[in-house]
Amino acid sequence: MEPKYIFVTGGVVSSLGKGIISSSLACLLKARGLRVTIQKYDPYINIDPGTLNPYEHGECYVTVDGHEADLDLGHYERFTNVRTTRANNVTTGRIYQSVIEKERRGDYLGKTVQIIPHITDEIKRNIMLLGKTGDYDYIITEIGGTVGDIESLPFLEAVRQLCWDLDGRALNIHLTYVPYLGAAKELKTKPTQHSVKELQQLGLRPDILILRTEHDVPVAMRRKIAQFCNVDPEAVIESRDCASIYEVPMMLHAQHLDDIVLAKTGVDPQVQGEPHMEPWLHFVEKMKNAREEVTIGLVGKYVELQDAYKSINESLFQAATYNDCRLNLVYVHSEKLTDANADEKLAGMDGVIIAPGFGQRGIEGKFVALRWCREHDVPTFGICLGMQCMVIEYARNVLGLAEANSTEMNPVTPDNVIDLMDEQKSITDKGGTMRLGAYDCRLAPDSLAARAYGASMVSERHRHRFEFNSDYRGRFEAAGMRCVGENPATGLVEVVEVPGKRWYLGTQYHPEYSSTVLSPNPIFLSFMRAAIDFRKERESGARPQ
Ligand code: GLN
Repeated sequence: MEPKYIFVTGGVVSSLGKGIISSSLACLLKARGLRVTIQKYDPYINIDPGTLNPYEHGECYVTVDGHEADLDLGHYERFTNVRTTRANNVTTGRIYQSVIEKERRGDYLGKTVQIIPHITDEIKRNIMLLGKTGDYDYIITEIGGTVGDIESLPFLEAVRQLCWDLDGRALNIHLTYVPYLGAAKELKTKPTQHSVKELQQLGLRPDILILRTEHDVPVAMRRKIAQFCNVDPEAVIESRDCASIYEVPMMLHAQHLDDIVLAKTGVDPQVQGEPHMEPWLHFVEKMKNAREEVTIGLVGKYVELQDAYKSINESLFQAATYNDCRLNLVYVHSEKLTDANADEKLAGMDGVIIAPGFGQRGIEGKFVALRWCREHDVPTFGICLGMQCMVIEYARNVLGLAEANSTEMNPVTPDNVIDLMDEQKSITDKGGTMRLGAYDCRLAPDSLAARAYGASMVSERHRHRFEFNSDYRGRFEAAGMRCVGENPATGLVEVVEVPGKRWYLGTQYHPEYSSTVLSPNPIFLSFMRAAIDFRKERESGARPQ
């Protein structure tokens, strides 16, 4: 079939969860045997979110082809199991960059370059790219921001034109908020009406309205919204707060969202058949039935913001769920962790994750946590900077190299156990210049990592500049820290572990980016099993800490 396009816009307020709605719809369509992808258009000027502080925009997600992407792409992959690429995330900055490059090349043949048609044409060209691959039946395009923002105007104009061009193959889903006024004990539809009016002024007409709400929106109220907004009554769908985002697909399916989308894009839902959601439902059942709890400490510096470690949180949640446990995730602020309070902050943990990151802030707390965890033999998992800290702490306290460091933290350290890669040394630009994307890793057959994966060659995603300094490899191995994973092409160290411990392992790569609901990452599963075993061991008093 010719690819169909679904545009998802949002109104009233930001953070309504357009990403989760888009992902849930994609999950349902995929379960009906359709080939689906989701792309995100972000109205900000940054070329990509790679240079954004996590406090600004949450975690930076990384695609297999090395694009630093909006965190919503993480939801897309977790919900659909379909890999995204650079083409799935475009910002205003990228659009302008490409138009300006074309202008400099002389491609516009002397014309005045303007927002309409040049910027909008470039947006349209990009939106159509994934559809042209022939790999997808449905392309869902999420437009970031809120209708009414100055920044999103060119995108909405491009969508308007595309809806016209693609007559019958395009659909507009608008997500709004229905607030509940406690004092009046009433749900209010006016913001929705205003938001739709705003869309209409831009020449866009929603085909489906999804109402985010904390309370049930009665049928009569939905009918009223339908009438005011020129939408079919059955296409006004409510999205009530769920206990878990993973319940959203079935909540939308219960209101026939997938049937409506198929019917409105000319596909007979009867012919397409019911979605095969069994594996998904199996996960949701496990999630709801989990009684036992596992407590994981996440040591990092961005702990005030729940989205800063989004993919790690979700990977841990998936791993806990598949191990029939409820995840109790405790954020431990690395800046506040000291030798004096480590007992108090870490004693209750069944497992500890040392988070990725950049720069000096909070780094000493990570060393405190690592030493404490190593000495108390708590399952410990270091990711990227967390792995580098594992190496530094081991160098300082086991190898006796008191001033060992990464040259990121101390450029003149006498023992640069973590150092800049040669190819990184001459780079001065910050954006898009790290070692990014998926690289192969060969695992030693007798390692914990190889057992966890059940494989000796894996491929995982990277986002870093600094590396384990191989000059020190022999000394680490002699002192008990093994380098069990390496890049087969370059020999760069990818995984370290300390075999004598319950589970003490660090990865230079980010396994959290590849963990999805239907295909949880093996290294997280293995870490979680070790944490649960450790908890049971302590509970039974076998080896009290
Ligand atoms: N700051 C470290 C580096 O650049 C680690 C990066 C990370 O944790 N993603 O190598």
